[in-house]
Amino acid sequence: MSELYLAIDIGGTKLTAGIVDAQGAVLIRDRVPTPPRDVWQARARLVRRVVAASPTPPGACGVGCGGPVKSDGIGSPLYVPSWRGFPIRDQIEQLTGLPTVVDTDAKALASGEAWHGAAQGVNDFIGVVVATGVSGGIISGGRLLQGRSGNAGGIGHMVVEPDGRDCVCGGQGCLDAYCSRSAIEEETGRAAQRAPRAIMERTGTLVGRALASVGAVVDLKLAVVGGSLALGFGDVFFEAAQHELDVRARLGFTSGFKIVPVGLGHHAPLVGAAALARFAPPQSFSPPAGVARLPADDTGPSTGPSTGASTGASTSPSTPADADREGGEAATGQLSPGATDE
Ligand SMILES: [Zn+2]
Repeated sequence: MSELYLAIDIGGTKLTAGIVDAQGAVLIRDRVPTPPRDVWQARARLVRRVVAASPTPPGACGVGCGGPVKSDGIGSPLYVPSWRGFPIRDQIEQLTGLPTVVDTDAKALASGEAWHGAAQGVNDFIGVVVATGVSGGIISGGRLLQGRSGNAGGIGHMVVEPDGRDCVCGGQGCLDAYCSRSAIEEETGRAAQRAPRAIMERTGTLVGRALASVGAVVDLKLAVVGGSLALGFGDVFFEAAQHELDVRARLGFTSGFKIVPVGLGHHAPLVGAAALARFAPPQSFSPPAGVARLPADDTGPSTGPSTGASTGASTSPSTPADADREGGEAATGQLSPGATDE
């Protein structure tokens, strides 16, 4: 198989595509603004152009996209309103003939940063994108967390103000409602990149606040952050976020929580998308020294109240076989090319 990857990033303001090699180097990069409609046609033209320019044909394709994205490659990115239940993976496979993996932009970013960026050798961290929206991708115990539907890590919709602003998701008070590009532009009446210092600081503070909670829930203390807003706000954003983390992350296992910019800079989205393809299936990201672990006392799904009197059935909630199966899943959860999406 070719050692080149076709990498695609689908953002709310721009569509990017490129060719990335096995060392994580971006050989070709091209982009166009995300049009208000006919997004797919613009996407297809860009992809054809990039593939035609590739020194040798790529062997696989990875796609990072604003969420939500389901594990079957069907996406409904909040900031691409014309795509609801859009079959991104199938469409790109038909267009290119390449095996294709689609995941959220932040899970792509986390994968790329573990592969060749600021989180190499780190088994527990979160990758964050602050751009059109805010999103996260968590690597825990060396594995990219998927969640029930494939959207684990969606920190943009953590509630940071209980009675706060309406959010594009339909909720209220989400991080995204304060820190997304459109939220900032609505509030300030100017391009987000020209936001006043107070808004840049507040963005950092709120992201730091959400991350402090993530650190406590998932047991990690490194956040690698990219996205045009975070990188554009630069030191003002990162210093405010770090200050908030220093104040809020005070448990023994979260103190010292560090927030750093992506190591791959503006190439992070494309290298991340390539990492999705390289470590496919998406359930099986495997960093160099990662060892998959599941909690030893996980007794499997609970199907009812724990009184033991809700049904007449006398099944045991946990058997030795459960423990064996758990180990088996852990063993195949790393690199298993035969596995398929569920
Ligand atoms: Zn929301």
